[in-house]
This record gives sequence, C-alpha cells and structure tokens, in this order.
Amino acid sequence: MLNDDEVILLVNAGVIPAYALEKHLRDNIRAIKVRRALISRASSTGTLETSQLPYHHYDYSKVHGQCCENVIGIMPIPVGVAGPIRIDGELLHVPMATTEGALVASTSRGCKAILLGGGASTVLTNDGMTRGPCLQMPSVVRAGALKAWLDGDGLEQVREAFQSTSRFAKLQHLKVAIAGRLVFVRFTTFTGDAMGMNMISKGCEQALRFIQSKFPDCQVVSVSGNYCTDKKPAAINWIEGRGKSVVAEAVIPGDTVRKVLKTTVDDLCQLNLRKNLVGSAMAGSIGGFNAHAANTLTAIYLATGQDPAQNVESSMCITLMEPANDGRDLRISCSMPCIEVGTIGGGTVLPPQAACLEMLGCRGPNRETPGANAQKLARVICAAVMAGELSLCSALATGDLVRSHIALNRAAPTATPTNTPVSNVTPQPSSSNMRAD
Ligand code: NAP
Repeated sequence: MLNDDEVILLVNAGVIPAYALEKHLRDNIRAIKVRRALISRASSTGTLETSQLPYHHYDYSKVHGQCCENVIGIMPIPVGVAGPIRIDGELLHVPMATTEGALVASTSRGCKAILLGGGASTVLTNDGMTRGPCLQMPSVVRAGALKAWLDGDGLEQVREAFQSTSRFAKLQHLKVAIAGRLVFVRFTTFTGDAMGMNMISKGCEQALRFIQSKFPDCQVVSVSGNYCTDKKPAAINWIEGRGKSVVAEAVIPGDTVRKVLKTTVDDLCQLNLRKNLVGSAMAGSIGGFNAHAANTLTAIYLATGQDPAQNVESSMCITLMEPANDGRDLRISCSMPCIEVGTIGGGTVLPPQAACLEMLGCRGPNRETPGANAQKLARVICAAVMAGELSLCSALATGDLVRSHIALNRAAPTATPTNTPVSNVTPQPSSSNMRAD
C-alpha cells in the first residue's frame, strides 16, 4: 500500500533493512528500483537512480539466496562464440563472455587450426576438489599424534563422517602437514557435477566435529586454513592439482600452420620454448608456463556461470609445442591441473549461463554418471585454452599481435539499435576483421 518514497522513509528510519526490500515488497524489480533510489539519494554522485546499469527484463528468482545480495542491476557482458572445434570426436561451439576485442576471433582461429588437424584429444588425470582446515593442538607432540592417526586408522572413520553430509561427495585422501602445533589437513574430494566448495566445506565441518570427538584437545582455527588453496596462488595446487586435472593435445598440419596461423612449425616451437618456458622460468612463475590461458578460461567461466575468482589457480597451465611427423607438423599440448568447474550450483543455475552450458551439452547434473558433465566442461576449457595458445603464440611469432588488437579493439562503433541505450552497445569489429584467419 506504500509508495516508493514512503518505503524509502521506512528504510531510512531503520524499520525495513535495505537488504530485505525483496522480502518486504515481494516484487524483485520494485525492490531494486527502491534500492537504487535510496543509494542515489544518499550518495554524493547521485547517479544510480537514473543510471544505465540495466535491471529490467531479468529473472531474479534464481539470484536471491544463491548468487547475489543487495542487487542493483545486472552487468551484461558480450558473449562471443569460438569454433567449431572438435574435442574428443564431438564438434562444439564454445561460448566466451568478454570485453577484450580480438580474444574470441583469435580463439576461433586456433579452433580452426585444431579442426583442420582432426581435432583435440583430452585426458582427465584427476578429479578432486580440496579444502584445507587449520587445527591447533596443545603441543607439537599432540599435533604429531593427530597427524599419525589421520595418516593411519583415522582416515576411514573421518571418511565416513565426511561422506554422511552428501550423496555425491567421495573423500579420496587427506594430506596432513604440521607447522609447530598447527595441523593443516587437505581434504581431497570427488564432488560429482558440482564445483564443490560448499559441498566439501559441509563435509569438512562434520569431519572436524568427529575429529574433535576423538581428540577433545583439538581446536578448529578455521575450516579454511589456506592449505586448500582457494582463489590464491599456491604451489600445492600446481603440484597436486585441484578440481579437474586435464591434458589436451592436437597435431596441426604444417600446411595449416602456414595458411591459417601464418607462421612455421619451427618458429612456433622456438617461440614457445623461449617465451612460455624460459621466460616464465626467469620470472619465477608457478604454473604460468603459457601465453594467456587465463584469457580463454575466464571468458568461458563467465559465460557458463563458474566462480570467476577461481581463475587464479584454474588458469595454471603449461603449454608445450614440438615438431611432429618428421618436422612437417606441430604437436601442441596444454596441461591444466586445477580446472575448478561445476555444471550445477552457483552461477550455473542462472538461465543465460545455463543456456551456454546447454550449448556445450553439459548443463546440470549428469544423472547416469554423476561428474561426467563437469568433467566434460573441464575438457572443453582445456581444449579451448589450447586453441587460444596456438593463435596468440602464432601472432607473437609473426609480430601480428599489436596490429590485430588495434584493429579489433579500436574499430568504429556499429549503428545503435533503436531500443538499446548507447552505453550498452559494444563496438563491433567489421565482419572482415572478425575472420579467424
Ligand atoms: P552447491 O549447489 O552448494 O551443492 C551442490 C548441490 O547439488 C548439493 O546439494 C548436491 O547434493 C546437489 N547435486 C545434485 N546432483 C548432483 C550431482 N550430479 N553432482 C553434484 N551435486 C549434485 O554447489 P557447490 O559446488 O558445493 O558450491 C558452489 C558454490 O560455492 C558457488 O556458489 C560458489 O560461489 C561457492 N563457493 C563457496 C566457497 C566456500 O568456501 N564455501 C568457496 C568458493 C565458492 P548433496 O546435497 O547430496 O551434496
């Protein structure tokens, strides 16, 4: 019965919390409108109420309680498509959300080269998400006793407690490290089609309760002790893997290297060695032995509803190139030990992101073989990263990088559709310079 100004008065008087407008108004769009007005009127810039940050025409029912709080709108990001690329025999088009001109065109060029070579093959070598709580014992001796138990008889009992919290979580192993009287326990867990951080955190809490029942002098410092390691650079992820560990490989015919990539097998191999291996070693890199794995991976993460902050460790990749078939052709591989993805939960439930997963044939849970959909997504990402590596390294080998970026980053804007605000339109490269080759 209240108008918007009266609702704002109630919020300013502390009667309705601003974060609970959706609950009180029972109208998601109106709640956002009121929140924008509130913020606008309270801020020195006062622009939000009339800003071009869009908020209409969106299904917010899947947002609240899962994806975002204090919602003031949506951030549209252009979604391009790279491909087709054949991955493990299947022809796919890969959605990529990005504002970096040239990225999709370049990945597409790499996809074309891989396709002309017959496609990419992938191998999944590991599938286990991790959480590493920090525990504290009264002394080093007691810390040692806890480690000995977890390394021995304790594992089976902890596994039973852990797995009681989920139908899908399967505890694979524990890695226990001691620093003084602190004990770090890295739980590695199969999480089905979920990326798994919530699932595994829930399992860890239950396991820690059980550990405390056996060791009453054990204090839980934090369910995440950074031994996981989530969203931070860490050698443990590079060495042990986190999420899906995938290797992708392709053989590119020499003719395709010349005609599509405009370079030679020898030049590409030399560039890869000197830049991606020696250069990264000189920089003291951990897992950064690649040209731009993070670019391709993050664009697919955004398009498919993954947790984009996990690109820190997910992008770790070593790109290798060598001559094949007596030096006529190029063999390329990308090894990525930490692709942290899911096809259920988190942002994957939002309709646009779910539509992109649908494009790849891996939306939602895989009912016959839990985990197969998320594993497929990881394989696709690794193969697409390889396409991106191929193309960027070729551009660097021929000195084309700056020219193509200027062409695709600074093209004149195309005509603005009448029903679209000017600020929502991204300048498009012309059809000729979008050509992947
Ligand atoms: P989730 O949506 O919290 O859990 C997955 C749910 O799907 C579970 O209830 C699971 O059942 C169910 N499920 C049904 N079919 C499944 C299948 N085939 N495979 C796996 N699960 C299936 O997802 P999550 O991946 O664990 O967590 C993702 C969220 O965690 C994201 O929103 C992300 O942003 C957030 N996150 C959390 C942390 C953290 O520290 N907690 C860190 C980073 C990100 P069961 O109930 O039987 O398991």
